[in-house]
Order: sequence, then C-alpha cells, then structure tokens
Amino acid sequence: MTKEGHRLDPCDWEDFSKEFHGLLDACLERMREARQRPWQPKPDNMAETVCLDDAPLDLDKVFEKLTKDIMPYATGGTHPRFFGWVQGTGLPVSVAADLIASTMNSNCGGRDHGATKVEEAVINWIKNIAGFPESASGILTTGTSQATIIALSVARFKRFGSIIRQKGVAAIPQIRVYAAKGVHSCLGKALEVMGHGREALKLVEINEQGQMDLEKLKTALLEDEKQGIEPLAIVATAGSVNLGLYDPIEDLATLCERKNIWLHIDGAFGFWSRLADEPWRSLSHGIERASSIACDFHKWMFVPYDCGACLIREREIHKQTFSERPTYLAPQQAGLGGGDLWYCDYGIELSRGFRALKVWAALRFYGKKALGDVITDNCKQAAYMGKLVEASPHLTLAFPVISNVCCFKSNNGKAEDIAACLQLSGDVVFSTTIINNESCLRAAIVNHRTTREDIVQAIKALERCVI
Ligand SMILES: *Cc1c(COP(=O)(O)O)cnc(C)c1O
Repeated sequence: MTKEGHRLDPCDWEDFSKEFHGLLDACLERMREARQRPWQPKPDNMAETVCLDDAPLDLDKVFEKLTKDIMPYATGGTHPRFFGWVQGTGLPVSVAADLIASTMNSNCGGRDHGATKVEEAVINWIKNIAGFPESASGILTTGTSQATIIALSVARFKRFGSIIRQKGVAAIPQIRVYAAKGVHSCLGKALEVMGHGREALKLVEINEQGQMDLEKLKTALLEDEKQGIEPLAIVATAGSVNLGLYDPIEDLATLCERKNIWLHIDGAFGFWSRLADEPWRSLSHGIERASSIACDFHKWMFVPYDCGACLIREREIHKQTFSERPTYLAPQQAGLGGGDLWYCDYGIELSRGFRALKVWAALRFYGKKALGDVITDNCKQAAYMGKLVEASPHLTLAFPVISNVCCFKSNNGKAEDIAACLQLSGDVVFSTTIINNESCLRAAIVNHRTTREDIVQAIKALERCVI
C-alpha cells in the first residue's frame, strides 16, 4: 500500500487509542492531585530533554516525554497557594472542551460553521455581564494585551475615519491616551505597536485612594488641547495589576460623554468582580457606559490559557476598522463561504483557533452563580490575608485590600529573597512589586482551589521565612 495520504494519521488506531487513554489518565490525575503539586523548578537539563532532532520517536516515548518530562514543569498556577502575578488555575471541563476544539480544528476567522455561533454566544454572554446593548460587538482574543490594541484601533478609526487605514499615523494629528499611574504596561505597548509611541500615553497622578485624580486629568486634557494634541481615549482600570484598585468609572464616563472622548476599560481580571457579592460587585459600576472593554477569561474566570475578550459598544465602527476581504474571501450567498459574522472583520488575525469552546463549556457547566461565588471567596481571602498581615509583628500592609490583591512589606528581609525562598520550598508563590518606592510581596488571588486554611498556611510559611 502506498503511504500517500497515510503518512501522518495513526497506522494503528487501536494502539493509539490505548496510549491516548493512558495520557488522558495522566492529565486527570494531575488535575485531581493539584493540591499535592506546588510549583517546582525545571531540571537543569530541561533544554536537552526537549531538544528536537530529526529522528522520530515512538508514540509511547513521545507521550512519556509529554507526561513525565514536560507536564510537571508548569508555571504552578494550578496549586491552591499560588498567588503570584495574576494567573488563572485552569478548569478540567475546559480541558475536555479543548480536546473537542482541537479535534474539530475549526478556523474561526470566518466562514459559516458552528464554531462561530459558539463564539457569538460567549460574546453575547459577556455583553450581558457588562450591561452593554445587544447591538454591541466583540471578539475573543489571546488576552487583554491584544484586546487593548483592537479597542484603541477602533477608537482611532472612529475619530479619524478611513484616512488612518489608508495613510497611517503620518496623516493624523498627534494623539494622547490618558490613564492613571499604575496602568498595565500593555497600554504603552499598544500605543507603540499602533505607531504613536510611548509619549502618546499620559500617566495621570492618583489620589489617596489610588484612583485616577480627576482634577489632574482635566488639567492634562486642557494642556494638550492648547497644543493641538487630540485626546484619543481615557483608559479606566477596573482592577489594577498592583493593588486591585478601580478608577472612578462613573465620573470618567460622565467626563467622556461630555467631551465626546472614547472610554476604554482595562478589566483584565477586575471586570469579573461584577459576578461577586457586594461590596465587590459594585466596584466596576459605570462600566456599562464605556465605549470598549477588555477582559480575560484566563485569569479570574479560570479558563486555561489563552483567552481574553474585547467588547465594542458600536458594532459598525468596529467592523469598519478591520474588515478586509480580498477576492478569495469575498462573501458567498450560500455554503461555507456565507454567513454575516466573520471574526476576521473584527480583529487582527485571519486564522483563529476555537478559543470560545473552552469558555462556553465552563459557562454552560458552572453557570454565573458558581463562578461568582469563587470570585467572592477570593476577595474574602485577600481581605483575610490583609487581617493576618496586620496582626503580624513581622509584616506591614502596604495598602488597604480593595478586591483580591494583598500587598505587604516584610519588616526584615528583602521581598525578592522571601518570595524566592517560599517558591523554592513549595510552600506558596507570592510575586513582588514596588509600592511607594518600597519592595513588597504581593498576592493576587485568582484561584478556585484556595481555601481560608491556605491563607493561614501561607502567612505561617512567610513568618517562618522572615523570623
Ligand atoms: C494581565 C493584565 C493585562 C494584560 O493581559 P494579558 O491577558 O496578559 O494580555 C492588562 N491589564 C491588567 C490589569 C492585567 O492584570
């Protein structure tokens, strides 16, 4: 028999199935035992272990490498005492859905097929949480970084029209985007990628509550106006990366409506406090008045990496910013080339994976209430950690806990050393940051496996480390 057409699928499906079930069991075991598996450093010879050469390996050997040589050396965000950066925990039901998505191998850039409807359902669900009108549009992205580029590009198209698509930034006036000090670095990066450069970002001073200072913002707007610099957007943060703080969104929405400025929300993780109980639910009040919102499913919605979302209030402007159909992609009346909703018309990529399915499965399986309850738990856990820190003679809280982030100083020892010591011991993962010029340990709790007891254990381990 010729090998043509048979080169890459399994020769023996029975055998493949047996090996595959073994691999599946290893994955399930890993997820089930997540509590027993804190972060561990990769072995020194990892590069050699994964080094590729041209000799093919047998399937059982490849699967062994996957499960034994690679799977254990993850970032560790699956463990209940992982509080570093803002890293989601992953969901078993989404792992299952990802398997289906890979099996289907849908290209979600366009065409008329089932996956598009699933993405649309997910977008409609978020629009509802945001309080956006049904007429709004949205797209799933790799994360908030990409969603920010999409949102600001739409803002720019709205302000300057098709000249920006034809002639680029040289043909438009200098622009400025305003955000509070402490805004995520993806905003500056977005402006660089869009060709405006870092100086297009004005960092506005924050007030005592850590929120954007409105008077300082107004002054900055006036100064720029005098120089003929156009305000492109004001970016309000819902859940700041350092401290989990929320800008005064209602006030910013009022200002933006009055001055006809685009209001973009960076709600990477903080958007989801809308699902929590009070008082956290109200932190993002006013979001429903924004022009665009960026948020992530892979952080505080726990869905495995990667998936974020961008919502845009005005669908038509969103589409006009990105739609581009060369003849080979021209819309057809019927068949696979038909359908109105081609996501390539709403974003940067043409070929796109079926990210929506792992999100859809999580939303279908858990529902809003169960996910919201975890978010409430995480906020309560951060507040409790804040209390334990305040009660400790060795630690000092750096800022009041507002949502799910707790930042504190150690009275003896450098934050970086302590964080490394706790990571290597496998006790707990904190990350570090600088608050008011001082190095701090930082816990951002976006973890559906954490319990109150884990918080107690984490602080105990810390105290052992600093005494
Ligand atoms: C993580 C984060 C981002 C960037 O999002 P990615 O999904 O990593 O691209 C932006 N803003 C905030 C507040 C974040 O926490």
